[in-house]
Amino acid sequence: MTAPELANLLALQDLDTHIDQQRHLRSHLPERAQLAEVEAELEKVRSARSELAVTLEEVAGRQAMAERELRATEERIAQVNSRLYGGTVSATRELQAMAADVEGLKNRASALEDTALGVMEEREPLDAQMAVFDQEIARLGERGEEVQARLRVAEAAVDAQLRELEGGRPGLAAAVPAELLSAYERLRGRLGGVAVARLVGGRCDGCHLSLPAVELDRIRHQPAAKVEYCEQCGRILVVGD
Ligand SMILES: [Zn+2]
Repeated sequence: MTAPELANLLALQDLDTHIDQQRHLRSHLPERAQLAEVEAELEKVRSARSELAVTLEEVAGRQAMAERELRATEERIAQVNSRLYGGTVSATRELQAMAADVEGLKNRASALEDTALGVMEEREPLDAQMAVFDQEIARLGERGEEVQARLRVAEAAVDAQLRELEGGRPGLAAAVPAELLSAYERLRGRLGGVAVARLVGGRCDGCHLSLPAVELDRIRHQPAAKVEYCEQCGRILVVGD
């Protein structure tokens, strides 16, 4: 039979392993990976959107400039026309010069109109793409919130499990002699959380190596309460019946 303190230590190890598994589960919940995916996608769309925003700003700037110049040219045409037909100027040469001026301004206005129209056409697909990005960002935002809500539910379930498991730990730890407990904690830190191994069929189930026959024989003839360590992995060995 296993000495009771070793049985308690084994129970503590099982509990700690269970707690470690729940903690691992908590940090590897599928919702967490889904959320990371949504965030990465969101990041991609946001970055494409800001690139597009720069292009759009440049195009909108050109459009505004063409429209501003067009307005100014039209105002200028109206001014010259009102002088031309206002009756205050009578010198033929001056009237001819003004008429030529209007002609030139009209050509300029027509060119500016073409420019403004061209920029508007250039801008249309960019505006449409911007709307697509905005929709995509809204959709991903909603999806992120939905995944986050599911993540919170899943975390709460694991947390409840953890609270229950951790609640049982002090009682079990108190049933293990202090010196053995501190050896256990030290080994757990060093050996990936598993400090206690069972000796099953001549093999340590911590490192899965078979113990030499001489060593097995020696351990089997020790008093049950004597603490033995696997000479290969260093874990506390608990010999079953
Ligand atoms: Zn071992």
